[in-house]
Order: sequence, then C-alpha cells, then structure tokens
Amino acid sequence: MDLDYLLAVPSWNSVGILVTFFTYLAIAGSLIPAKLVPGVTLQDGSRLHYRCNGLLSMLLLALLLGVGAKMGLLSLTVISERGLELLSATFIFSFLVALALYAAGCKSRNQSSSLKPHVTGNLIHDWWFGVQLNPSFLGIDLKFFFVRSGMMGWLFINLSVLAKTIQSATLSHSMILYQMFCLIYILDYFFYEEYMTSTWDIIAERLGFMLVFGDLVWIPFTFSIQGWWLLGNKVELTTAAVIANCFVFLIGYLVFRGANKQKHDFKKNPKALIWGKPPKVVGGKLLASGYWGIARHCNYLGDLLLALSFSLPCGISSPVPYFYPIYLLILLIWRERRDEARCAEKYKEVWAEYRRLVPWRILPYFY
Ligand code: NDP
Repeated sequence: MDLDYLLAVPSWNSVGILVTFFTYLAIAGSLIPAKLVPGVTLQDGSRLHYRCNGLLSMLLLALLLGVGAKMGLLSLTVISERGLELLSATFIFSFLVALALYAAGCKSRNQSSSLKPHVTGNLIHDWWFGVQLNPSFLGIDLKFFFVRSGMMGWLFINLSVLAKTIQSATLSHSMILYQMFCLIYILDYFFYEEYMTSTWDIIAERLGFMLVFGDLVWIPFTFSIQGWWLLGNKVELTTAAVIANCFVFLIGYLVFRGANKQKHDFKKNPKALIWGKPPKVVGGKLLASGYWGIARHCNYLGDLLLALSFSLPCGISSPVPYFYPIYLLILLIWRERRDEARCAEKYKEVWAEYRRLVPWRILPYFY
C-alpha cells in the first residue's frame, strides 16, 4: 500500500505540478492580451490596474493539456490520483507564502495605500490577516493572482476527476450534471472577471494566510468535494430528478448573474433600465427595483441555489457532498449581517428607507 498517499505527504510530483501551474499562470497572465481594468480608487487617490485575461489563460491551458495528453506527454488523471498530495503541498505553500508576505510587509517602508504595512505586533494576527493590502511580486498583483489560481484549480481538479471516470468507464448522469454546472459557473466567472476588481476581498482585505489559504486550498479542494465523492459512489437519478436539478441550476444562475449585473450596471449608470423600466432609486443611491426590489441580497440567494444544484446530482444518501452549500449558507448569512451593518452605517436613513421598502434579506417571505 502507498503509505505516502494515505498520509498525504507532498511528493516532488505534486510540488512540480504546483510550480508548473503557477509559472504558467504568471507567464500567461503577463503575456496574453488582456482587458486592463482600473480598480476602485484607494484612500490615497491611486488606482491599481488589473489584467483581465483569465478566460483566455484558462482555455489555452486546457488546450495545452489536451494536446499534451494526446501526444502522451502527460496524464489527465494525475490530479485525481494525487489529490491528497496536492492538497498538502498547496497547504504548505500557502503557509510559507503567508510567512513571506508577513516578513516582506513588515520590512516595507512604502506609504502608499496598497503597500503601507499595518502591523499590530501580534505575529499570529498579522500573519493570518496580512500586513499589506495589495502586495505584488515581479509586477503581478498577488491577491488577484491567487483568486484566479483557485478558481482555475477547481476547474482542473474537476476535469481530472472527469478524465478518471471516463478512463474507468464509470461516467454517470450525476457526474455529467455536476461537471456541466461547475464548468458553466467557472466560465461565467472568468467571462465577468473584471467584476472581481470591486469585490470586498480585493478592495478591503489585506493579503495574509486567511485569503491565501481561502483562494488556493479552500476553493479548489472543498468546492470539488462532490466530484471526488462521485468518483467512489454510484447514484441513479430519475429523469424527473435530472430535470428538477437543471431547473434549480437555471433559476440560481439567472438570479445570481442577473442581480450582480443589475447592481454593476446601476453603479456605472444610475439611469440604466432595470427589466426594461427606469430604476426605482432610494435616496439617489440605492437600487430598489429588479432583483434588488425582491430581497436586499438576492444575489446571495442565486449563489445558494447554484451551490445546491452542484450537490443535488449526488442524491441524498450522504451529507458529504452537501459540504459546499452548507458552508456557503453559513458564510453568506454571516456576510449579509456584516454588510447590513456596514451599509446602515454608510447610508444611514437612506438604508433604513431601503429596508422599509424591501423588508426581506435573502429569501422573500422566509428570511
Ligand atoms: P454584494 O455584491 O452584494 O455587495 C454588497 C455591496 O453592494 C454593499 O456593501 C453596497 O456597497 C452595495 N449595495 C448593497 N445593496 C445595494 C443596492 N440596493 N443598490 C446599490 N448598491 C447596493 O456582496 P459580495 O461582494 O459579498 O458578493 C458578490 C457576489 O459574490 C455575490 O453574488 C455572492 O454570492 C458571491 N460570493 C460567493 C462566495 C463563494 O464562496 N462562492 C463568497 C462570497 C461572495 P456600496 O458601499 O458600494 O454601495
């Protein structure tokens, strides 16, 4: 028996896969034509610019891997066979990167909003939450780079799991549904990658172990649990179950993308039509029609339905594949509470008026 595998000791092979992946992403991110997207204005008035070419980088990598496998240069199943080794290698890498970020941040004399060190003196706290807002390495914005790596890592883990089921002739409807839903979600994410530049993580969190671990370990390895689970478990889905599952995905996708897009469009142009009508606006600042007139965090509802749709293909015999929707439910309720408090503070009576107009937080008539 391969004891290294059981103990999840990172092998040199897994280190090689990681190094190759990061090197590819760094080179592709710098060389492939990109849309240059300005980030939000920082406290000192400066703005970072992000090279949004994740979609092309990902498609090119998929093509290269496909050609490499066809020529017999590599094995597409390697990730699914070395999952635990890769997990531990990525964990150790995240730990070391966070230490390096801490050391570099503490030494920095830079006073710009992006790089000014915030050192509390508590080593664990500073290592966990990070010291600098937007550190970079060789000109690459590390926060943007890590989140891109994590989302792409999730896709390539899934594809390797898919290759493994095809190789062992055990491809099921469940696996096809799970793979298809995740593929659409990840493609959509990279299609709208520029939206990431205004998210909370990018604009407000410093880069420490929490974010590095979240991006590199948590996203790819826990969001793919359903795929790993389906590798070892057989599920028979009825036609009605397949149709119902597609329906949950479709509704989730429409709400998730529609709500995020409406807010994005509204922020860019407060007169932009919402569902073909002029927007209903509270206090000149908050959108109160479309999805944002149904619930104050309708986008979270869409994301939760999507998460559920990724797990439903696994049936209901085990709670394990439901890890992601359960985790997301807890995370988004917590996040929604924090965001409400932040908005109440920022918008004051305008927010109170919005709450009166739209009383539901996430799910109308329930929460
Ligand atoms: P939101 O995109 O909901 O952003 C909240 C902010 O939007 C508020 O702070 C406020 O900011 C603004 N806002 C709120 N209501 C209104 C309104 N009615 N009109 C205009 N502006 C408004 O939150 P997140 O950044 O948390 O989430 C973005 C997406 O990412 C969501 O779809 C979420 O589901 C997803 N997500 C997914 C995770 C995962 O693990 N899968 C984890 C976290 C998020 P301002 O001060 O700018 O007005």
